[in-house]
This record gives sequence, C-alpha cells and structure tokens, in this order.
Amino acid sequence: MIPKDVIEEIKSRLDIVDVISEYINLERVGQYYRALCPFHTETRPSFYVSPKLQRYKCFGCGANGDVIKFVQEMENISFYEALEKLAKRAGVDLSKYSKTSSKSGYSIYTTFYKKLKDLYKKELLKNKKALAYLKDKRRLSEEEISHFEFGYSPLGSKLPIIIAKELNLSLEMLMKTGVVFRTTKGIKDIFEDRIVIPIKNESGDTIAFGGRVLDEGEPKYINSKDTKYFSKSRTLFLLDIAKNYIRRLDMVIVTEGYFDAIALHRAGFENTVAVLGTALTQQHAMRLSNLSKNIVLAFDSDEAGKKAAIRSISVLLSRGFNILVVDYRDYKDADSLYTKEGKDGIEKVFEKAMSFEEFIVNYYKERYDLSTPSGVESFASAIGEWGKRIAPYTSSVRVEALVKYASEVSGLSQKDLERFVRSPTVAVQEDRKRVGADEEIAYLFFNYEDTREEILNFPRDVLGNCIKEILDLYKNTNNLNQTMENLSKECSDWIFNVLKDTPPPSDYQRILRDVKRRLELKKLTKRLKEIDMHLNSATDEERHVLLKARMDIVRKMKSLQRG
Ligand SMILES: [Zn+2]
Repeated sequence: MIPKDVIEEIKSRLDIVDVISEYINLERVGQYYRALCPFHTETRPSFYVSPKLQRYKCFGCGANGDVIKFVQEMENISFYEALEKLAKRAGVDLSKYSKTSSKSGYSIYTTFYKKLKDLYKKELLKNKKALAYLKDKRRLSEEEISHFEFGYSPLGSKLPIIIAKELNLSLEMLMKTGVVFRTTKGIKDIFEDRIVIPIKNESGDTIAFGGRVLDEGEPKYINSKDTKYFSKSRTLFLLDIAKNYIRRLDMVIVTEGYFDAIALHRAGFENTVAVLGTALTQQHAMRLSNLSKNIVLAFDSDEAGKKAAIRSISVLLSRGFNILVVDYRDYKDADSLYTKEGKDGIEKVFEKAMSFEEFIVNYYKERYDLSTPSGVESFASAIGEWGKRIAPYTSSVRVEALVKYASEVSGLSQKDLERFVRSPTVAVQEDRKRVGADEEIAYLFFNYEDTREEILNFPRDVLGNCIKEILDLYKNTNNLNQTMENLSKECSDWIFNVLKDTPPPSDYQRILRDVKRRLELKKLTKRLKEIDMHLNSATDEERHVLLKARMDIVRKMKSLQRG
C-alpha cells in the first residue's frame, strides 16, 4: 500500500493540465481548459479541465477524475500502474513502499519486453543473413537499424525463457507475454528466425514485437498476441515518436505496415503511424482525433490495402476527419516506392493524394463492369450508399462532389446518381422494430465475426445483464465456446432463445449501425437525467456549462431520432 500523503505528494508535484496536454489538445477558456473528450465521440468540446481543482470532467459522457484516473483511463492500466508512471515523472521514489515482489504487472511486463528487445538486438549483430536482409533488401543504414531498434530471433530461440527465468516469472506469466506458444516439445518463441521490431506504447515502453520472415515464408508478418497491455485495435506503431509531429503539422499519415511507416519516417514524414495488419478501428480514430483531424491514408495499393482504406474511411468520417488517400501508382507500398525512388518519389505521391470521394469512385469503378447494365446498376447503388453514409457527417458539397465525380467516370447523369443517393434504404428496419437492442447485439456478435471487435467496445452501462456477461466472458477467453460454457443458467437460456428466434438480417451492417444509434440514444437519455439532477445544486457557473451541455445533448438526440 502506498500511503495517502505520498499519493498527494505526487499529485501536488504535477499539473493536470500539463499531463493531459500530452495526450490531447487543450484550449483555454476562462479559468478552464477545454477539449474534445477522449472518452466518447463528439464534435463540440464538452471535456473540461480545472487547474484550480486539478480535476477533469466531461459533460457529454460523465467521465471525471484526477490526474491519476486520467492516465489510468487513457492508457487502460491499473491505478497502481498509473501512479507508478506519474511518480517517475514527479521524481518520487515508490520503491520503498513496494514489498519484495509487489512490482506492478505493467512494470514486470515492460521489463520483460525491454530485456528481450536488448537480446534480440544483440542476436541481430551476430547473424549475417538477417543483417544483410535489412541492409541490402531494405536499404537500412546502421544508424537506422539502431534507431528503430531492429533485432533478430535466432533459430531455436530460447530467449524469452531465459528472460523469464532471470525475472522469476512463472510459466503462466511467461505465456501471458504473448511471445511464446506451447508445443509438445516445450515452449517456443513465436518470432523464431524472424526479424523483430519493437512496438511501443505512447510512453515509449515496448509492449509487443512485430516479426517478419527473412525469405518468402508465410505468414510474412506476425505480432505478439494481444495481451493485457497490448491490443492491435488500440496500438499505433511509432505513435510515441509521431505524436508531436502530428500535432505540430496538424496532420497524420497512416500506413498498413511497419516498414512503410519506417520508410516515411526516413523520408522525413515523421508524422506517420502504422496500424498492425487491420483497418483503422474506432479506438485508433478516437486517439488520433485528439491530435489532428487531418489524415492521409497511405495503405498498400493491392486489394487488401484498398479494402482496408474503404473500411477506414467509414470509421473516420463518423469522427469528422478530413481524409486524403494516397495512390502509389505502380508500387505496392511506401516502402517499395521509397527503396526505388527515395524521398522525391514519396513527395510526389503525397502531392497527388486524392480526395476520399475520388478514391471511393475509383474503387467501385474497378469492381464493376460499366459496359453492362447490371454493372452500372451495382456501381450506382454503391455510390448511392456512400452518399447516404457520408451525408450526416459532411456538408452537402461533399456528397455533390462524390456524385459529380462518379458521373464523370461512369457516364451516368448526375440526376440518375442522385436518385440512388436519395432512394430509401431497403425496408428491413420495419420488421425488426420488435427485436430489442440487446438481442440484436447478441445475434450479430455470434453470427458475424467482423462485428465483434466493435461490439466489445460498446458502452456497458446501457446494456442488459446477459449481454454484458457474454461480452465480459468473451473478452477474457477470446473464445465463443468457452464463453457459452461459462455463462450463468439464466443468460445461457436467454442467448439460446435469441439465436433461435431472431430473424437473420438482410444487411447486418445496417442493423449494427441502427443498434449503435439506439444505444447512443439510451446513453444520452441517461446523461440528460444526470444533468437535470445536478442542475438543482449547481453554482451559476456550473449551471451555464450544464445548460449548454444539455442543449447539445437534446440536439444530438433529435438528430439521432431523425436518422
Ligand atoms: Zn466524454
């Protein structure tokens, strides 16, 4: 236990405004600071920080607390881990309070990763083939190899086991680091015979590795498995370095792989981050939106890259980003372009980045044969769907731009295309009105794998008990069967009936959007009640802020009800 006065001492040495400023852009308003809330989606700021009280509060979602709570929530770590971090920053030594082995899970985890990283780095220098791969094939200089901290995991690597012994980690703890797997012949390093590169969190601590094969083996890339401290859907590679550049330049570039992000950093675009083999998730977008709302998607030019870009555009639009998309012409990605044409080649490609409307139109033009009536029909309805999708988030000018460009490309008249934008979306919602939000969520979760990640991040406070139980169990086990086995009797009956009685949707993505809207409404209703309660006892100044927040909520609810 850390004594209360030590915790107070740490807090008193820090300014909450400084700490929060490292994560999001605060703007001064009177005696407060204000920002877009990092914990919920909004377009107008309702997140306030009070330097006087050294606390933050969001009038949109209700998040509030002190500097420790903020770091805890932001980094998804425990109270003690956040305290440890802040103590370091404040220059307070906590070691005398921690009894023998009561070091926090986070600090053991990052120590493990740091030591392993150092061993991998040493191995790289010993292995000619691995070094040659980086120097000849990837054209990396020795400084660059050391700057990005490349390493190599040798054949038959026992390195994770060695470190685990050194740190006195149990087998169970070693398994939880995400770098080993069990075979009949014992524990193995998942990165064996791969180039490894550290993946760091925003504080610069290594929390995972990426590994690439030297030859043509498959899979080409792997990452540490998701752990308590590392999740692919949250982490952005190189964000620790890039975040200050992103803020300064008010623009972020996102690539698909580590080598592409590295190539762009080498070319002087240090405001670049990479996703780890996924499209951009809601969590990524939320994190980036606090640094800049201007984004350039620089994904691979192959089919998978384009699909990831299309999916990312959907996510980004809903958070009000301005989006450009890069076209690498004949190259596969940033890395291959940089290797052949250097900085100039990269600059040219960025100068010619296209608007997202243009990208969308080109994407469907390649997919459908516009010389046939059915191809034209599919093309027009795809454009129509996008028109509907972007309309709520952008000005009508953007929808017009989309239609105009699609008309130029397809030869269809703008009028015809607009008809598709305005046509009502298939009437599936009507007959599903009776299906409750919890039931819809459960049905989607079990039947459509690609909805799971998003559903797992739904706010729990507006969900019923059984769906909450299912999501929590799944989060721990990552396995549907195990989730089902461990459910309480009541919830197991419930889910059985849901799966049996819910009619399959004709467009599950639309159902997912509709469910989100319903949850959002529920949450806002709850917030409204809370605000009304607060209003009774509020000071004049608080009243002012609360009433404004109330108006915003009512406005949001109206627009949700319309949508
Ligand atoms: Zn909020």
